[in-house]
Amino acid sequence: MDGKKLEYKGEEALKEVEYLTSNAPQCQENILKEILKRNGSTEYLKKYLEGSSYDILAFKNHVPVITYADIRPYIQRIANGEDSSLLSGHTITEMLCSSGTSAGEPKLMPSIAEDLDRRTFLYNLIIPIINQYVPGLDEGKAMYLYFAKAEMSTPSGLPARPVLTSYYKSKHFKCRSRDPFNDFTSPDQAILCTNSDQSMYCQLLSGLVHRHKVLRLGAVFASAFLRAISFLERNWINLCDDIRTGQLSSSITDSGCRSAMSDILKSPDPQLADEIKMICSKKLWKGILCQLWPKAKYIEAVVTGSMAQYIPALELYSAGKLPLVCTMYASSESYFGVNLKPLSDPAEVTYTLLPNMAYFEFIPLGDNGLMSMDEEEEVPKDKPVDLAHVRVGCYYELVVTTFAGLNRYRIGDVVQVTGFHNQSPQLRFICRRNVVLSIDNDKTNEEDLHNSVTLAKKLLEPDNALLVEYTSYADTSSVPGHYVLFWEIQHHATTNGGTNPLDAQLLEDCCMVVEEALDYVYRRCRTYDKSVGPLEIRVVEPGTFEALMDHFLKNGASINQYKTPRCIKSSSALELLDSKVEAYFFSPRSPTWIP
Ligand code: AMP
Repeated sequence: MDGKKLEYKGEEALKEVEYLTSNAPQCQENILKEILKRNGSTEYLKKYLEGSSYDILAFKNHVPVITYADIRPYIQRIANGEDSSLLSGHTITEMLCSSGTSAGEPKLMPSIAEDLDRRTFLYNLIIPIINQYVPGLDEGKAMYLYFAKAEMSTPSGLPARPVLTSYYKSKHFKCRSRDPFNDFTSPDQAILCTNSDQSMYCQLLSGLVHRHKVLRLGAVFASAFLRAISFLERNWINLCDDIRTGQLSSSITDSGCRSAMSDILKSPDPQLADEIKMICSKKLWKGILCQLWPKAKYIEAVVTGSMAQYIPALELYSAGKLPLVCTMYASSESYFGVNLKPLSDPAEVTYTLLPNMAYFEFIPLGDNGLMSMDEEEEVPKDKPVDLAHVRVGCYYELVVTTFAGLNRYRIGDVVQVTGFHNQSPQLRFICRRNVVLSIDNDKTNEEDLHNSVTLAKKLLEPDNALLVEYTSYADTSSVPGHYVLFWEIQHHATTNGGTNPLDAQLLEDCCMVVEEALDYVYRRCRTYDKSVGPLEIRVVEPGTFEALMDHFLKNGASINQYKTPRCIKSSSALELLDSKVEAYFFSPRSPTWIP
Protein backbone atom coordinates (compact mmCIF):
# COMPACT_ATOMS: atom_id res chain seq x y z
CA MET A 1 0.00 0.00 0.00
CA ASP A 2 1.33 3.37 -1.01
CA GLY A 3 1.62 5.28 2.28
CA LYS A 4 1.64 8.61 0.43
CA LYS A 5 -1.88 7.99 -0.89
CA LEU A 6 -3.15 7.68 2.66
CA GLU A 7 -2.16 11.31 3.22
CA TYR A 8 -4.29 12.66 0.38
CA LYS A 9 -6.65 15.52 1.21
CA GLY A 10 -9.27 17.67 -0.55
CA GLU A 11 -9.68 17.21 -4.31
CA GLU A 12 -6.84 14.73 -4.38
CA ALA A 13 -8.60 12.54 -1.84
CA LEU A 14 -11.84 12.63 -3.87
CA LYS A 15 -9.96 11.61 -7.00
CA GLU A 16 -8.43 8.76 -5.05
CA VAL A 17 -11.93 7.60 -4.04
CA GLU A 18 -12.94 7.58 -7.70
CA TYR A 19 -9.82 5.64 -8.58
CA LEU A 20 -10.24 3.13 -5.75
CA THR A 21 -13.92 2.52 -6.35
CA SER A 22 -13.40 2.23 -10.13
CA ASN A 23 -10.83 -0.48 -9.48
CA ALA A 24 -12.42 -2.02 -6.41
CA PRO A 25 -12.07 -5.73 -7.31
CA GLN A 26 -8.42 -5.28 -8.30
CA CYS A 27 -7.73 -3.18 -5.23
CA GLN A 28 -9.24 -5.86 -3.00
CA GLU A 29 -7.17 -8.57 -4.64
CA ASN A 30 -4.03 -6.50 -4.09
CA ILE A 31 -4.95 -5.89 -0.45
CA LEU A 32 -5.41 -9.59 0.24
CA LYS A 33 -2.16 -10.50 -1.56
CA GLU A 34 -0.34 -7.88 0.47
CA ILE A 35 -1.86 -9.09 3.74
CA LEU A 36 -0.84 -12.65 2.91
CA LYS A 37 2.67 -11.49 2.04
CA ARG A 38 3.03 -9.61 5.29
CA ASN A 39 1.15 -11.94 7.64
CA GLY A 40 1.74 -15.31 5.95
CA SER A 41 4.33 -16.38 8.50
CA THR A 42 2.21 -15.58 11.56
CA GLU A 43 1.37 -18.49 13.83
CA TYR A 44 -2.31 -18.05 13.02
CA LEU A 45 -2.09 -18.16 9.22
CA LYS A 46 0.63 -20.83 9.19
CA LYS A 47 -1.73 -23.11 11.07
CA TYR A 48 -4.12 -23.07 8.12
CA LEU A 49 -1.88 -22.39 5.14
CA GLU A 50 1.35 -24.25 5.82
CA GLY A 51 1.93 -26.80 3.10
CA SER A 52 -0.26 -24.96 0.60
CA SER A 53 0.49 -21.90 -1.46
CA TYR A 54 -0.07 -18.59 0.28
CA ASP A 55 -2.46 -17.31 -2.38
CA ILE A 56 -6.04 -16.12 -2.51
CA LEU A 57 -7.45 -19.50 -3.44
CA ALA A 58 -5.67 -21.27 -0.60
CA PHE A 59 -6.80 -18.51 1.77
CA LYS A 60 -10.43 -19.06 0.83
CA ASN A 61 -10.17 -22.84 0.89
CA HIS A 62 -8.36 -23.22 4.18
CA VAL A 63 -8.80 -20.21 6.45
CA PRO A 64 -11.99 -20.49 8.53
CA VAL A 65 -14.60 -17.77 8.92
CA ILE A 66 -14.48 -16.91 12.62
CA THR A 67 -15.97 -14.94 15.48
CA TYR A 68 -14.25 -13.36 18.46
CA ALA A 69 -14.33 -16.55 20.52
CA ASP A 70 -12.00 -18.19 17.95
CA ILE A 71 -9.40 -15.43 17.89
CA ARG A 72 -9.63 -14.47 21.56
CA PRO A 73 -6.88 -16.89 22.78
CA TYR A 74 -4.38 -15.32 20.34
CA ILE A 75 -5.38 -11.80 21.34
CA GLN A 76 -5.11 -12.71 25.02
CA ARG A 77 -1.64 -14.15 24.50
CA ILE A 78 -0.46 -10.95 22.83
CA ALA A 79 -2.13 -8.87 25.54
CA ASN A 80 -0.19 -10.97 28.06
CA GLY A 81 3.16 -10.30 26.42
CA GLU A 82 3.65 -12.82 23.60
CA ASP A 83 4.91 -11.59 20.25
CA SER A 84 2.71 -9.78 17.72
CA SER A 85 3.79 -12.38 15.15
CA LEU A 86 1.11 -14.69 16.48
CA LEU A 87 -1.27 -12.64 14.35
CA SER A 88 0.50 -9.90 12.42
CA GLY A 89 3.69 -9.30 10.48
CA HIS A 90 3.72 -5.86 12.12
CA THR A 91 4.11 -4.83 15.72
CA ILE A 92 0.74 -4.61 17.41
CA THR A 93 0.90 -1.20 19.03
CA GLU A 94 -2.41 -1.13 20.87
CA MET A 95 -5.58 -3.06 21.56
CA LEU A 96 -8.80 -1.31 20.64
CA CYS A 97 -11.72 -1.88 23.00
CA SER A 98 -14.80 -2.49 20.91
CA SER A 99 -18.27 -1.83 22.24
CA GLY A 100 -19.04 -5.45 21.43
CA THR A 101 -18.52 -7.83 24.34
CA SER A 102 -17.46 -11.41 24.64
CA ALA A 103 -17.88 -13.43 27.84
CA GLY A 104 -18.97 -10.20 29.53
CA GLU A 105 -15.79 -8.26 28.63
CA PRO A 106 -15.18 -5.76 25.84
CA LYS A 107 -13.65 -7.33 22.78
CA LEU A 108 -10.03 -6.28 22.18
CA MET A 109 -9.00 -5.72 18.59
CA PRO A 110 -5.34 -5.70 17.57
CA SER A 111 -4.14 -2.54 15.85
CA ILE A 112 -0.88 -1.58 14.14
CA ALA A 113 0.65 1.88 13.65
CA GLU A 114 -0.36 2.04 9.99
CA ASP A 115 -4.03 1.66 10.89
CA LEU A 116 -4.07 5.26 12.08
CA ASP A 117 -3.10 6.39 8.56
CA ARG A 118 -5.91 4.33 7.11
CA ARG A 119 -8.45 5.84 9.49
CA THR A 120 -7.10 9.34 8.87
CA PHE A 121 -7.45 8.78 5.11
CA LEU A 122 -11.13 8.15 5.66
CA TYR A 123 -11.56 11.15 7.99
CA ASN A 124 -9.84 13.36 5.43
CA LEU A 125 -12.51 12.43 2.88
CA ILE A 126 -15.41 13.73 4.93
CA ILE A 127 -14.86 17.46 4.40
CA PRO A 128 -14.17 17.26 0.64
CA ILE A 129 -17.34 15.17 0.26
CA ILE A 130 -19.54 17.53 2.30
CA ASN A 131 -17.93 20.60 0.78
CA GLN A 132 -19.42 19.59 -2.60
CA TYR A 133 -22.88 20.12 -1.12
CA VAL A 134 -22.33 22.66 1.69
CA PRO A 135 -19.61 25.12 0.68
CA GLY A 136 -17.91 27.65 2.92
CA LEU A 137 -17.28 25.40 5.90
CA ASP A 138 -13.79 26.87 6.20
CA GLU A 139 -15.36 30.23 7.13
CA GLY A 140 -16.50 29.16 10.58
CA LYS A 141 -16.25 26.61 13.32
CA ALA A 142 -17.53 23.12 14.05
CA MET A 143 -19.06 22.36 17.43
CA TYR A 144 -18.33 18.65 17.60
CA LEU A 145 -18.75 17.09 21.02
CA TYR A 146 -16.15 14.36 21.19
CA PHE A 147 -15.12 12.38 24.25
CA ALA A 148 -12.05 10.38 25.14
CA LYS A 149 -12.19 7.53 27.62
CA ALA A 150 -9.74 6.67 30.37
CA GLU A 151 -7.06 4.43 28.97
CA MET A 152 -6.20 1.01 30.37
CA SER A 153 -3.32 -1.22 29.54
CA THR A 154 -2.94 -4.93 28.92
CA PRO A 155 -0.78 -7.02 31.30
CA SER A 156 2.08 -6.58 28.80
CA GLY A 157 1.67 -2.79 28.81
CA LEU A 158 -0.09 -2.26 25.47
CA PRO A 159 -2.59 0.61 25.59
CA ALA A 160 -6.17 -0.71 25.59
CA ARG A 161 -8.61 2.00 24.62
CA PRO A 162 -11.50 2.75 22.28
CA VAL A 163 -10.59 3.48 18.67
CA LEU A 164 -11.68 7.12 18.91
CA THR A 165 -9.68 7.75 22.06
CA SER A 166 -6.67 6.39 20.20
CA TYR A 167 -7.39 8.79 17.33
CA TYR A 168 -7.95 11.84 19.57
CA LYS A 169 -4.60 11.17 21.23
CA SER A 170 -2.74 10.77 17.94
CA LYS A 171 -0.70 13.35 16.12
CA HIS A 172 -3.07 12.84 13.19
CA PHE A 173 -5.87 14.42 15.22
CA LYS A 174 -3.71 17.16 16.73
CA CYS A 175 -2.47 18.18 13.27
CA ARG A 176 -5.98 18.78 12.01
CA SER A 177 -6.19 22.11 13.84
CA ARG A 178 -3.96 23.67 11.18
CA ASP A 179 -6.69 23.05 8.60
CA PRO A 180 -9.34 25.82 8.38
CA PHE A 181 -11.93 23.14 7.60
CA ASN A 182 -11.23 21.54 10.94
CA ASP A 183 -11.58 24.50 13.24
CA PHE A 184 -13.38 23.02 16.25
CA THR A 185 -14.90 25.00 19.10
CA SER A 186 -13.84 22.31 21.58
CA PRO A 187 -10.25 22.63 22.77
CA ASP A 188 -8.29 19.36 22.56
CA GLN A 189 -7.76 19.38 26.33
CA ALA A 190 -11.53 19.30 26.86
CA ILE A 191 -11.95 16.44 24.37
CA LEU A 192 -9.17 14.52 26.08
CA CYS A 193 -10.46 15.12 29.62
CA THR A 194 -11.73 11.74 30.79
CA ASN A 195 -14.18 13.19 33.29
CA SER A 196 -17.16 13.22 30.95
CA ASP A 197 -19.14 15.88 32.89
CA GLN A 198 -16.22 18.31 32.97
CA SER A 199 -15.43 17.60 29.32
CA MET A 200 -19.05 18.18 28.33
CA TYR A 201 -19.29 21.37 30.37
CA CYS A 202 -16.21 22.90 28.78
CA GLN A 203 -17.12 21.79 25.26
CA LEU A 204 -20.60 23.29 25.55
CA LEU A 205 -19.20 26.44 27.08
CA SER A 206 -16.77 26.85 24.17
CA GLY A 207 -19.58 26.15 21.72
CA LEU A 208 -21.73 28.84 23.34
CA VAL A 209 -18.94 31.40 23.44
CA HIS A 210 -18.43 30.89 19.70
CA ARG A 211 -22.13 30.56 18.92
CA HIS A 212 -22.15 33.06 16.07
CA LYS A 213 -19.23 31.34 14.30
CA VAL A 214 -20.54 27.79 14.50
CA LEU A 215 -21.44 26.37 11.06
CA ARG A 216 -22.00 22.73 12.00
CA LEU A 217 -22.94 20.74 15.05
CA GLY A 218 -22.33 17.13 15.87
CA ALA A 219 -21.10 14.17 17.85
CA VAL A 220 -20.11 10.69 16.75
CA PHE A 221 -23.43 9.07 17.61
CA ALA A 222 -26.83 10.76 17.91
CA SER A 223 -27.16 9.49 21.50
CA ALA A 224 -24.13 11.55 22.59
CA PHE A 225 -25.47 14.68 20.92
CA LEU A 226 -28.79 14.35 22.72
CA ARG A 227 -27.00 13.85 26.01
CA ALA A 228 -25.32 17.17 25.37
CA ILE A 229 -28.68 18.88 24.90
CA SER A 230 -29.97 17.35 28.11
CA PHE A 231 -26.77 18.46 29.90
CA LEU A 232 -27.35 21.96 28.55
CA GLU A 233 -30.91 21.92 29.90
CA ARG A 234 -29.55 21.17 33.36
CA ASN A 235 -26.51 23.45 33.25
CA TRP A 236 -27.24 26.48 31.11
CA ILE A 237 -27.61 28.77 34.11
CA ASN A 238 -24.09 27.95 35.30
CA LEU A 239 -22.73 28.19 31.76
CA CYS A 240 -24.30 31.65 31.40
CA ASP A 241 -22.79 32.69 34.76
CA ASP A 242 -19.33 31.71 33.52
CA ILE A 243 -19.82 33.74 30.33
CA ARG A 244 -21.20 36.69 32.27
CA THR A 245 -18.28 36.81 34.70
CA GLY A 246 -15.56 35.53 32.37
CA GLN A 247 -14.70 33.00 35.10
CA LEU A 248 -14.81 29.23 34.70
CA SER A 249 -16.93 27.47 37.34
CA SER A 250 -14.88 26.10 40.24
CA SER A 251 -16.56 22.73 39.66
CA ILE A 252 -14.16 22.26 36.73
CA THR A 253 -11.04 20.92 38.34
CA ASP A 254 -9.27 19.26 35.41
CA SER A 255 -6.10 21.29 34.84
CA GLY A 256 -6.10 20.79 31.04
CA CYS A 257 -9.68 22.03 30.83
CA ARG A 258 -8.96 25.00 33.10
CA SER A 259 -5.96 26.09 31.11
CA ALA A 260 -7.71 25.70 27.73
CA MET A 261 -10.81 27.52 28.92
CA SER A 262 -8.82 30.48 30.19
CA ASP A 263 -8.01 31.23 26.52
CA ILE A 264 -11.68 31.06 25.58
CA LEU A 265 -13.28 32.92 28.50
CA LYS A 266 -11.07 35.96 28.07
CA SER A 267 -13.30 38.61 29.61
CA PRO A 268 -16.83 39.01 31.05
CA ASP A 269 -19.50 39.04 28.32
CA PRO A 270 -22.85 39.93 29.94
CA GLN A 271 -24.47 40.60 26.58
CA LEU A 272 -23.76 37.09 25.28
CA ALA A 273 -24.90 35.64 28.62
CA ASP A 274 -28.22 37.53 28.31
CA GLU A 275 -28.77 36.32 24.75
CA ILE A 276 -28.24 32.69 25.77
CA LYS A 277 -30.35 33.13 28.90
CA MET A 278 -33.23 34.47 26.86
CA ILE A 279 -33.12 31.49 24.50
CA CYS A 280 -32.61 28.81 27.14
CA SER A 281 -35.26 30.07 29.55
CA LYS A 282 -38.00 29.36 27.01
CA LYS A 283 -40.27 26.58 28.19
CA LEU A 284 -40.24 24.75 24.86
CA TRP A 285 -36.90 23.82 23.43
CA LYS A 286 -38.26 23.09 19.98
CA GLY A 287 -35.77 24.54 17.48
CA ILE A 288 -33.32 25.51 20.26
CA LEU A 289 -30.31 24.45 18.20
CA CYS A 290 -31.06 26.93 15.43
CA GLN A 291 -31.54 29.70 17.99
CA LEU A 292 -28.35 29.03 19.92
CA TRP A 293 -26.26 28.43 16.82
CA PRO A 294 -28.03 30.49 14.15
CA LYS A 295 -25.49 29.83 11.38
CA ALA A 296 -25.44 26.04 11.81
CA LYS A 297 -26.06 24.28 8.50
CA TYR A 298 -26.36 20.66 9.62
CA ILE A 299 -25.97 18.18 12.45
CA GLU A 300 -23.38 15.48 11.92
CA ALA A 301 -23.96 12.24 13.81
CA VAL A 302 -24.62 8.60 13.08
CA VAL A 303 -28.40 8.23 12.90
CA THR A 304 -28.48 4.93 11.04
CA GLY A 305 -29.03 1.51 12.64
CA SER A 306 -30.09 1.63 16.28
CA MET A 307 -29.38 5.38 16.34
CA ALA A 308 -32.41 5.97 14.09
CA GLN A 309 -34.51 6.00 17.27
CA TYR A 310 -33.06 9.45 18.02
CA ILE A 311 -34.07 11.12 14.76
CA PRO A 312 -37.40 12.51 16.09
CA ALA A 313 -35.66 14.17 19.06
CA LEU A 314 -32.96 15.70 16.86
CA GLU A 315 -35.64 16.97 14.50
CA LEU A 316 -37.53 18.50 17.38
CA TYR A 317 -34.51 20.39 18.72
CA SER A 318 -33.70 21.67 15.24
CA ALA A 319 -37.37 22.22 14.30
CA GLY A 320 -36.63 20.04 11.27
CA LYS A 321 -34.45 22.78 9.80
CA LEU A 322 -31.03 21.14 10.03
CA PRO A 323 -30.20 18.15 7.83
CA LEU A 324 -28.90 15.14 9.75
CA VAL A 325 -25.64 14.07 8.17
CA CYS A 326 -24.25 10.54 8.55
CA THR A 327 -20.75 10.56 7.19
CA MET A 328 -19.17 7.20 7.76
CA TYR A 329 -19.49 3.57 8.73
CA ALA A 330 -16.65 2.18 10.82
CA SER A 331 -15.70 -0.13 13.66
CA SER A 332 -12.77 -0.96 15.90
CA GLU A 333 -11.90 -3.88 13.65
CA SER A 334 -11.71 -1.79 10.48
CA TYR A 335 -13.20 1.31 8.93
CA PHE A 336 -15.60 0.47 6.13
CA GLY A 337 -16.92 3.33 4.06
CA VAL A 338 -18.25 6.82 3.55
CA ASN A 339 -21.58 8.35 2.61
CA LEU A 340 -20.99 10.06 -0.73
CA LYS A 341 -24.38 11.81 -0.54
CA PRO A 342 -24.18 13.35 2.93
CA LEU A 343 -27.43 15.30 2.63
CA SER A 344 -29.53 12.25 1.85
CA ASP A 345 -32.40 11.43 4.17
CA PRO A 346 -31.26 9.18 7.07
CA ALA A 347 -33.52 6.39 5.81
CA GLU A 348 -31.77 6.50 2.44
CA VAL A 349 -28.18 6.63 3.67
CA THR A 350 -25.77 4.22 2.03
CA TYR A 351 -22.08 3.88 2.69
CA THR A 352 -19.72 3.28 -0.21
CA LEU A 353 -17.18 0.66 0.77
CA LEU A 354 -13.59 1.88 0.53
CA PRO A 355 -11.64 -1.06 -0.89
CA ASN A 356 -8.31 0.10 0.58
CA MET A 357 -9.42 -0.26 4.22
CA ALA A 358 -9.26 -4.07 4.54
CA TYR A 359 -10.17 -7.18 2.59
CA PHE A 360 -13.93 -7.55 2.70
CA GLU A 361 -16.13 -10.60 2.26
CA PHE A 362 -19.88 -10.99 2.58
CA ILE A 363 -21.88 -13.88 4.01
CA PRO A 364 -25.12 -14.01 1.97
CA LEU A 365 -28.26 -13.82 4.11
CA GLY A 366 -30.78 -13.99 1.25
CA ASP A 367 -32.79 -11.28 -0.37
CA ASN A 368 -34.71 -10.48 2.80
CA GLY A 369 -31.97 -10.94 5.39
CA LEU A 370 -33.89 -13.78 7.05
CA MET A 371 -31.14 -16.36 6.49
CA SER A 372 -29.24 -14.72 9.32
CA MET A 373 -26.58 -16.92 10.94
CA ASP A 374 -26.01 -17.24 14.67
CA GLU A 375 -22.64 -16.46 16.17
CA GLU A 376 -22.09 -20.09 17.11
CA GLU A 377 -23.07 -21.43 13.71
CA GLU A 378 -20.07 -22.49 11.60
CA VAL A 379 -19.91 -20.62 8.32
CA PRO A 380 -18.66 -22.88 5.46
CA LYS A 381 -15.37 -21.57 4.07
CA ASP A 382 -16.81 -21.16 0.60
CA LYS A 383 -19.93 -19.32 1.72
CA PRO A 384 -18.70 -15.69 1.82
CA VAL A 385 -18.53 -13.90 -1.52
CA ASP A 386 -16.13 -11.11 -2.37
CA LEU A 387 -17.00 -7.52 -3.16
CA ALA A 388 -17.32 -8.12 -6.89
CA HIS A 389 -19.96 -10.81 -6.39
CA VAL A 390 -22.49 -9.17 -4.08
CA ARG A 391 -25.95 -8.65 -5.54
CA VAL A 392 -27.98 -5.46 -5.34
CA GLY A 393 -30.92 -5.79 -2.97
CA CYS A 394 -29.43 -8.74 -1.06
CA TYR A 395 -28.45 -8.85 2.60
CA TYR A 396 -25.06 -9.89 3.92
CA GLU A 397 -23.04 -10.18 7.07
CA LEU A 398 -19.76 -8.34 6.75
CA VAL A 399 -16.45 -10.22 7.17
CA VAL A 400 -12.99 -8.58 7.29
CA THR A 401 -9.37 -9.53 6.94
CA THR A 402 -6.99 -6.88 8.24
CA PHE A 403 -3.27 -6.10 8.28
CA ALA A 404 -3.41 -6.13 12.08
CA GLY A 405 -4.23 -9.84 12.09
CA LEU A 406 -7.97 -10.51 11.87
CA ASN A 407 -8.59 -13.15 9.24
CA ARG A 408 -12.09 -13.72 7.86
CA TYR A 409 -13.51 -12.18 11.01
CA ARG A 410 -17.27 -11.74 11.27
CA ILE A 411 -18.05 -8.16 12.22
CA GLY A 412 -21.60 -9.07 13.20
CA ASP A 413 -23.28 -6.33 11.16
CA VAL A 414 -26.05 -7.05 8.70
CA VAL A 415 -25.94 -4.81 5.63
CA GLN A 416 -27.95 -4.56 2.44
CA VAL A 417 -26.29 -3.82 -0.89
CA THR A 418 -28.22 -0.95 -2.45
CA GLY A 419 -26.09 -0.40 -5.54
CA PHE A 420 -22.55 0.31 -6.65
CA HIS A 421 -20.44 3.44 -6.83
CA ASN A 422 -18.27 2.62 -9.81
CA GLN A 423 -17.32 -0.94 -8.89
CA SER A 424 -17.58 -0.67 -5.14
CA PRO A 425 -20.74 -1.79 -3.30
CA GLN A 426 -22.89 0.71 -1.43
CA LEU A 427 -24.17 -0.63 1.85
CA ARG A 428 -27.21 0.21 3.89
CA PHE A 429 -26.63 -0.58 7.55
CA ILE A 430 -29.48 -2.82 8.68
CA CYS A 431 -28.65 -3.95 12.20
CA ARG A 432 -26.16 -5.54 14.45
CA ARG A 433 -26.74 -9.28 14.39
CA ASN A 434 -28.92 -10.27 17.30
CA VAL A 435 -29.02 -6.97 19.20
CA VAL A 436 -32.35 -6.30 20.81
CA LEU A 437 -31.65 -3.31 23.01
CA SER A 438 -29.26 -0.43 22.58
CA ILE A 439 -29.27 3.10 24.00
CA ASP A 440 -25.68 4.25 23.62
CA ASN A 441 -22.65 2.00 23.11
CA ASP A 442 -24.43 -0.85 24.86
CA LYS A 443 -25.62 -3.66 22.61
CA THR A 444 -27.71 -6.21 24.46
CA ASN A 445 -28.60 -9.39 22.65
CA GLU A 446 -31.54 -11.64 23.22
CA GLU A 447 -29.51 -14.22 25.08
CA ASP A 448 -28.04 -11.77 27.59
CA LEU A 449 -31.44 -10.23 28.15
CA HIS A 450 -32.98 -13.63 28.68
CA ASN A 451 -30.25 -14.78 31.07
CA SER A 452 -30.53 -11.67 33.19
CA VAL A 453 -34.33 -11.86 33.35
CA THR A 454 -34.05 -15.54 34.28
CA LEU A 455 -31.87 -14.64 37.23
CA ALA A 456 -34.14 -11.83 38.36
CA LYS A 457 -37.39 -13.73 38.13
CA LYS A 458 -36.12 -16.20 40.74
CA LEU A 459 -36.60 -13.44 43.30
CA LEU A 460 -40.35 -13.66 42.73
CA GLU A 461 -40.64 -17.32 43.67
CA PRO A 462 -40.58 -16.98 47.48
CA ASP A 463 -43.36 -14.47 47.07
CA ASN A 464 -45.60 -17.01 45.33
CA ALA A 465 -45.33 -15.08 42.13
CA LEU A 466 -44.29 -16.19 38.68
CA LEU A 467 -43.10 -14.27 35.69
CA VAL A 468 -45.40 -15.46 32.91
CA GLU A 469 -44.04 -13.43 30.02
CA TYR A 470 -41.79 -10.50 29.35
CA THR A 471 -40.66 -8.23 26.63
CA SER A 472 -38.48 -5.15 26.47
CA TYR A 473 -38.18 -1.75 24.91
CA ALA A 474 -35.49 0.93 24.64
CA ASP A 475 -37.18 4.06 25.99
CA THR A 476 -35.45 7.10 24.55
CA SER A 477 -38.24 9.58 25.21
CA SER A 478 -36.09 11.13 27.93
CA VAL A 479 -32.33 11.57 28.12
CA PRO A 480 -30.51 9.42 28.97
CA GLY A 481 -32.68 6.65 27.57
CA HIS A 482 -33.20 3.48 29.56
CA TYR A 483 -34.25 -0.16 29.22
CA VAL A 484 -37.87 -0.97 30.01
CA LEU A 485 -39.03 -4.49 30.75
CA PHE A 486 -42.72 -5.31 30.59
CA TRP A 487 -43.44 -8.09 33.05
CA GLU A 488 -46.66 -10.04 33.43
CA ILE A 489 -46.66 -11.61 36.85
CA GLN A 490 -49.00 -14.33 38.01
CA HIS A 491 -49.66 -14.56 41.73
CA HIS A 492 -50.46 -17.90 43.27
CA ALA A 493 -52.79 -17.99 46.23
CA THR A 494 -50.98 -17.91 49.56
CA THR A 495 -51.74 -20.41 52.32
CA ASN A 496 -54.40 -18.11 53.72
CA GLY A 497 -56.09 -18.02 50.30
CA GLY A 498 -55.15 -14.43 49.37
CA THR A 499 -52.46 -13.17 47.02
CA ASN A 500 -49.49 -11.02 48.00
CA PRO A 501 -49.68 -7.47 46.71
CA LEU A 502 -46.76 -6.28 44.57
CA ASP A 503 -43.77 -5.69 46.77
CA ALA A 504 -41.97 -2.55 45.55
CA GLN A 505 -38.70 -3.46 47.23
CA LEU A 506 -38.76 -6.87 45.57
CA LEU A 507 -39.33 -5.46 42.10
CA GLU A 508 -36.62 -2.87 42.57
CA ASP A 509 -34.33 -5.75 43.51
CA CYS A 510 -35.37 -7.48 40.29
CA CYS A 511 -34.34 -4.36 38.34
CA MET A 512 -30.97 -4.48 40.08
CA VAL A 513 -30.40 -8.17 39.40
CA VAL A 514 -31.12 -7.67 35.69
CA GLU A 515 -28.69 -4.76 35.52
CA GLU A 516 -25.96 -6.61 37.41
CA ALA A 517 -26.30 -9.51 34.98
CA LEU A 518 -26.09 -7.39 31.83
CA ASP A 519 -22.72 -7.09 30.16
CA TYR A 520 -19.70 -4.93 30.88
CA VAL A 521 -20.50 -2.20 28.35
CA TYR A 522 -24.08 -1.85 29.61
CA ARG A 523 -22.82 -1.49 33.18
CA ARG A 524 -20.15 0.98 32.08
CA CYS A 525 -22.76 3.08 30.26
CA ARG A 526 -24.94 3.03 33.38
CA THR A 527 -22.32 3.61 36.04
CA TYR A 528 -19.38 5.41 34.47
CA ASP A 529 -20.63 7.14 31.32
CA LYS A 530 -24.13 7.67 32.75
CA SER A 531 -25.37 7.49 29.18
CA VAL A 532 -28.06 4.95 30.11
CA GLY A 533 -30.63 5.60 32.83
CA PRO A 534 -31.96 3.20 35.53
CA LEU A 535 -33.67 0.09 34.21
CA GLU A 536 -37.43 0.06 34.64
CA ILE A 537 -39.87 -2.80 35.11
CA ARG A 538 -43.46 -2.05 34.10
CA VAL A 539 -45.78 -4.65 35.58
CA VAL A 540 -48.71 -5.26 33.25
CA GLU A 541 -52.13 -6.67 34.10
CA PRO A 542 -52.90 -10.38 33.60
CA GLY A 543 -53.74 -11.32 30.00
CA THR A 544 -51.62 -8.54 28.48
CA PHE A 545 -49.34 -10.87 26.52
CA GLU A 546 -52.33 -12.70 25.07
CA ALA A 547 -53.67 -9.34 23.95
CA LEU A 548 -50.23 -8.62 22.47
CA MET A 549 -50.33 -11.87 20.54
CA ASP A 550 -53.83 -11.06 19.25
CA HIS A 551 -52.50 -7.72 18.16
CA PHE A 552 -49.69 -9.29 16.12
CA LEU A 553 -51.97 -11.97 14.66
CA LYS A 554 -54.40 -9.30 13.56
CA ASN A 555 -51.48 -7.63 11.82
CA GLY A 556 -50.52 -10.70 9.82
CA ALA A 557 -48.32 -12.84 12.12
CA SER A 558 -48.75 -16.60 11.79
CA ILE A 559 -50.16 -18.34 14.83
CA ASN A 560 -47.91 -21.35 14.22
CA GLN A 561 -44.77 -19.29 14.26
CA TYR A 562 -45.72 -16.63 16.77
CA LYS A 563 -43.13 -15.99 19.45
CA THR A 564 -43.40 -13.16 21.93
CA PRO A 565 -41.01 -10.56 20.53
CA ARG A 566 -38.29 -9.99 23.11
CA CYS A 567 -38.12 -6.37 22.09
CA ILE A 568 -40.94 -4.14 20.96
CA LYS A 569 -40.37 -1.83 18.02
CA SER A 570 -43.92 -1.18 16.85
CA SER A 571 -45.60 1.87 18.33
CA SER A 572 -49.04 0.27 18.29
CA ALA A 573 -47.78 -2.73 20.28
CA LEU A 574 -46.10 -0.38 22.70
CA GLU A 575 -49.29 1.61 23.15
CA LEU A 576 -51.13 -1.58 23.92
CA LEU A 577 -48.58 -2.62 26.55
CA ASP A 578 -48.51 0.82 28.11
CA SER A 579 -52.28 0.89 28.39
CA LYS A 580 -52.07 -2.20 30.62
CA VAL A 581 -49.37 -1.09 33.03
CA GLU A 582 -50.31 -1.51 36.70
CA ALA A 583 -47.09 -0.32 38.34
CA TYR A 584 -43.63 1.04 37.53
CA PHE A 585 -40.38 0.19 39.30
CA PHE A 586 -36.87 1.55 38.73
CA SER A 587 -33.46 0.30 39.62
CA PRO A 588 -32.52 2.15 42.82
CA ARG A 589 -28.75 2.34 42.17
CA SER A 590 -26.10 1.88 39.52
CA PRO A 591 -24.77 -1.62 38.85
CA THR A 592 -21.24 -2.66 39.69
CA TRP A 593 -18.65 -1.69 37.12
CA ILE A 594 -14.93 -2.16 37.58
CA PRO A 595 -12.72 -0.69 34.84
P1 AMP B 1 -17.17 -0.28 17.80
O1 AMP B 1 -16.37 -1.45 17.32
O2 AMP B 1 -17.45 -0.28 19.24
O3 AMP B 1 -16.56 0.97 17.31
O4 AMP B 1 -18.60 -0.36 17.10
C1 AMP B 1 -18.70 -0.52 15.73
C2 AMP B 1 -20.12 -0.83 15.40
O5 AMP B 1 -20.94 0.35 15.51
C3 AMP B 1 -20.30 -1.28 13.97
O6 AMP B 1 -19.93 -2.62 13.78
C4 AMP B 1 -21.77 -1.01 13.79
O7 AMP B 1 -22.55 -2.02 14.39
C5 AMP B 1 -21.96 0.30 14.55
N1 AMP B 1 -21.82 1.43 13.60
C6 AMP B 1 -20.71 2.09 13.25
N2 AMP B 1 -20.96 3.03 12.32
C7 AMP B 1 -22.28 2.96 12.07
C8 AMP B 1 -23.16 3.65 11.19
N3 AMP B 1 -22.75 4.64 10.42
N4 AMP B 1 -24.47 3.31 11.22
C9 AMP B 1 -24.92 2.33 12.02
N5 AMP B 1 -24.14 1.65 12.86
C10 AMP B 1 -22.84 1.94 12.89
